[in-house]
Amino acid sequence: RDTRLRVVLRVRPLTCTETRRGDRRVVHSLGDGTVHVSAARHDATFGFSAVFDAGASQEAVFEGSGMRQLVELAIDGFSCTVFAFGQTGSGKTYTLMGPLAQRETRPAAPGLLGLMQRSFACLLEQSQSRGSDLALSASYLEIYNEQVRDLLSPGPPCALPLRWSKTCGFYVENQLSVDFESLEAIADLLLQGAEPWAQGCGHAGTCLEGAGPGVGTLSPPQSSSLPAMRVPQPSACPSKQGTLCFVDLAGSERVKETGSSGELSARPSQSPVAPSAACPPAGHCISLLAKPRGKRMHIPYRDSKLTRLLARSLGGSGITLMVACISPSSRCLSETLSTLHYASRARRVTTRP
Ligand code: ADP
Ligand code: MG
Repeated sequence: RDTRLRVVLRVRPLTCTETRRGDRRVVHSLGDGTVHVSAARHDATFGFSAVFDAGASQEAVFEGSGMRQLVELAIDGFSCTVFAFGQTGSGKTYTLMGPLAQRETRPAAPGLLGLMQRSFACLLEQSQSRGSDLALSASYLEIYNEQVRDLLSPGPPCALPLRWSKTCGFYVENQLSVDFESLEAIADLLLQGAEPWAQGCGHAGTCLEGAGPGVGTLSPPQSSSLPAMRVPQPSACPSKQGTLCFVDLAGSERVKETGSSGELSARPSQSPVAPSAACPPAGHCISLLAKPRGKRMHIPYRDSKLTRLLARSLGGSGITLMVACISPSSRCLSETLSTLHYASRARRVTTRP
């Protein structure tokens, strides 16, 4: 049966810098899954499955976004994907992983852990309580400059080839997949993969997967990352494997403002540098997928590595949760409106899990 993408919105608090320079709040949550944007020439209301405003805790986002159900579906054998998208600085990484910068010196306070760590804990708990022979493995990829890199492989990053097969669809060849049994082990893997990212170099994604091709990534400002986890199913059904993949998409802002190409910008950017050339096609695919099935033309997944890897989550047999992140500041108005329009459009996208 067709299942709609679940789209939730998170509005981060104004930062100290924004408050100090007197930025106005232009986004207000109205409750009931709606937000209102009011600024000089703009006055618009948008609706989502859930809206988390500045006061929402990490736990509230985990519980209210449907993340727990998604973990259960991954254990049941579905391919599940969580996307965070929005402009750079909108809170994508904070939402997925918590405040990373502090992590170097001391572990983040438990209350600040993001969707990923909470999902891992939930996954381990659930798989143990089902008492079966579930084995978990994780992979962690980054797409940077149209190169797929394995963040778990030791040594300097090397580009891995992306292949296609009838049974698996697109998959990354020779991708490392590491078994884990404890929260500490997966937290270490995550840190290992996040390191380049924490140093501010790029695009990453993270996937936790069941079986089949796994994609994982984390993102620095201008890259997309995909961490993934696999949940192999009991031996009776070896081919049935669930996956849970987290995607931290590169910032969605337009080239002229930041010098980056936008992950979700509708028109392919003209930037000669295009640090994340992988990105505009994702927005393009979403726009096309949002059209009714009968009116849909060819979806150009092959336009970028990222869209190839995400083909199943966006238009195929996956179950997808999108977390749109925005800043409430008046200075971010145009990016905020663009994120809100994308997120609204994505609500019309359906998959057949
Ligand atoms: P992005 O990954 O979208 O570029 P970040 O997650 O790095 O953005 O967030 C930008 C800044 O805002 C960081 O300093 C982060 O700690 C802070 N921040 C983001 N979301 C929140 C939140 N919900 N509560 C408190 N601080 C936040
Ligand atoms: Mg980030």
